[in-house]
Amino acid sequence: MARKDDAPRGVAMEKEFDKEAWIPKTDLGKKIKSGEFKTIDEVIKSGKKILESEISDYLIEDLSSEIIAIGQSKGKFGGGKKSIWRQTQKKTSEGNKPKFATLVAVGNNDGLIGIGTGKSKETMPAKEKALRNAKLNVKKIKRGCGSWSCYCGKSHSIPFTVIGKCSSTIVKLMPAPKGTGLMIDSEPQKILKLAGITDVYSDSKNTTTKINLMNALFDALKKLSKTKVNEEFSKKAGIV
Ligand SMILES: [Zn+2]
Repeated sequence: MARKDDAPRGVAMEKEFDKEAWIPKTDLGKKIKSGEFKTIDEVIKSGKKILESEISDYLIEDLSSEIIAIGQSKGKFGGGKKSIWRQTQKKTSEGNKPKFATLVAVGNNDGLIGIGTGKSKETMPAKEKALRNAKLNVKKIKRGCGSWSCYCGKSHSIPFTVIGKCSSTIVKLMPAPKGTGLMIDSEPQKILKLAGITDVYSDSKNTTTKINLMNALFDALKKLSKTKVNEEFSKKAGIV
């Protein structure tokens, strides 16, 4: 059966976040509201875990979200078509009970990116859970231009090659010169765009499940920040 909300699109259910009305529940949240932490960079540098999604709403300007298609429609007419839902059936005494899983990415198109999954018996709660988890999972990534044929010193690409893994799935991201575009499938493209990357080459292996592919991609992006680089290279590649 075709579902009404089958087409990938932004998470439109969000209301404007009311900063004044927010009552933080966690220690970190309270410190943010009192002004002890002023930016998301300070929070990330502190190594403190974000345990309430409102922290990302409060601190990140221009936070936007995208639903990433991780499923395939089943049945006569939907076979092989992209779907935002990954559907599983659970056999119970009352019959088959479907569950819906989805993946949401959040970012500011400027170096911040997070992904999260949500699972539920119904689609809306799954979407909300995924959005919340993505906001708890926001990371800062390094951008730059490490393309030997470009080295323009701008942050349109990535400074060096990274490899991410999830289970047996491997994703490799490589710097690309300006104007190349995102040389990767349309769904992972959405994640890279939200992170603020516009040019990249990629390669991947064992991409049987979409969810593992997105997790491997996120793992690769996180490695951009984990990898230490010297000051000379940092300048050459225009790392931000
Ligand atoms: Zn460049």
